[in-house]
Amino acid sequence: MNGSNDNNAPTTDAPQPVIVPRAEHPISRSSISPSALKVLYRLKDAGFQAFLVGGAVRDLLLGRSPKDFDIATNAHPEQVRQLFRNCRLIGRRFHLAHVRFGQEIIEVATFRAAHTLVDDDNSVDEDSRRVLDTHGRILRDNLYGTIEEDVWRRDFTANALYYNIADFSIWDYTNGVPDANARVLKLIGDPATRYREDPVRMLRAVRFAAKLDFRIDDATAAPLTKLAGMLHSVPAARLFDEVNKLFLAGCALRSFELLREHGLLAHLFPDLAAALEADSTGLGERLVRLGLQGTDERVLADKSVTPSFLFAVLLWPVVQRQAKQHLQVDDSEIGVLQDAFDSVAARAQQRVAVPKRFSMSAREVVAMQPRFDNRSGRRSLRVLEHPRFRAAYDFLLLRAAAGEVEQSVADWWTEIQTMPTEARVEVVEQVGAAPRPAGVKRRRRRSRKAKPSTGV
Ligand code: ATP
Ligand code: MG
Repeated sequence: MNGSNDNNAPTTDAPQPVIVPRAEHPISRSSISPSALKVLYRLKDAGFQAFLVGGAVRDLLLGRSPKDFDIATNAHPEQVRQLFRNCRLIGRRFHLAHVRFGQEIIEVATFRAAHTLVDDDNSVDEDSRRVLDTHGRILRDNLYGTIEEDVWRRDFTANALYYNIADFSIWDYTNGVPDANARVLKLIGDPATRYREDPVRMLRAVRFAAKLDFRIDDATAAPLTKLAGMLHSVPAARLFDEVNKLFLAGCALRSFELLREHGLLAHLFPDLAAALEADSTGLGERLVRLGLQGTDERVLADKSVTPSFLFAVLLWPVVQRQAKQHLQVDDSEIGVLQDAFDSVAARAQQRVAVPKRFSMSAREVVAMQPRFDNRSGRRSLRVLEHPRFRAAYDFLLLRAAAGEVEQSVADWWTEIQTMPTEARVEVVEQVGAAPRPAGVKRRRRRSRKAKPSTGV
């Protein structure tokens, strides 16, 4: 393959795409990043095929603004590098080109080789191009191919659309345009096979359904529960990345519901799934749902979200349960919570590897909770100076909203923060006084009855 290839037409002996001309689709160049357009045009002018691909085409088609703009081309990575000064090749097995424009990086991928048939022993494909393990997972996929090959290795039909810079048409090999318009998420090929190749696609199905508000096609949904156990074979670090995408991108609550519905939660966070199942009070369930809903609201409002708070939420019902079982009359509640957190987190890490910096601050947020019970004496105010106070306090609010602690306790901490130091000291030194700061108007106590928490 080289730059002199025909730029406008698909090669003839391969599957033909439906070509949707510019006049028949809504994607306008004005909604494509100018940097991506530059890359597309330069590739085209050098005689290569150049397409906008993946999530960007799908999102533009749906009238959403894309997270990033990925490009696919028949130029080899070295050829891409020669065209751009600001370009770096990344990846060990399959090289991708990253073209940098200030903060923005445009990823340029050379078309990948096709799926080839799996041998009977399920280990090496017919011409050794793709190596699979005994579960049918792809271990190596490292040859460059044509667009007709590239398309079949993509996951969902709506993710397999190519916007051609040569004439602004969309090339659709998989019925992706009608599927996207009908808001249906459909795997390309045989769903069970595609999940076996890469079990993370099960999580991607849930993520896209939640994020795009798509229905998962019946055939695509059918194997999920049965194959959910394959998540065990996915490296825990990759699952951490996927969990962040599921829960920190504004559709956490819906993702959580779908993970449960399709039996995936039990393989991602087995202890959480079991704790929620066993909890007859419904408190843990309410806390998790409100925590995820709160995360979604923060994302929507463009506020920061962190994996630490998320993991504190997801581990809390399990930590609570374990701490309750172990707490003796004389134990320090903080110590018991820390021990419970350590053992619960260690088990959870086997599935989802949370980097230390996040799990450490989740641990602090959890272990600080009993300190909010103490509201007399100057020492009780020290918690306000703790570097993790803000997160721990937010977590307290969440527990109160879920009905796990008295709302008046949360209100006390809300109000004390608004007071000058001397007034705070006065409040906590009124020995035996009611926990309401003096001079602060009594707020109407919010009903502890949980508001409908499903959000859907
Ligand atoms: P987002 O908007 O969340 O980034 P996206 O569709 O761009 O969504 P990416 O994870 O960025 O998703 O991947 C880009 C494209 O690469 C996808 O649209 C899909 O075509 C393909 N792809 C990514 N991961 C896989 C996978 N595990 N299996 C098959 N194809 C994949
Ligand atoms: Mg993307």
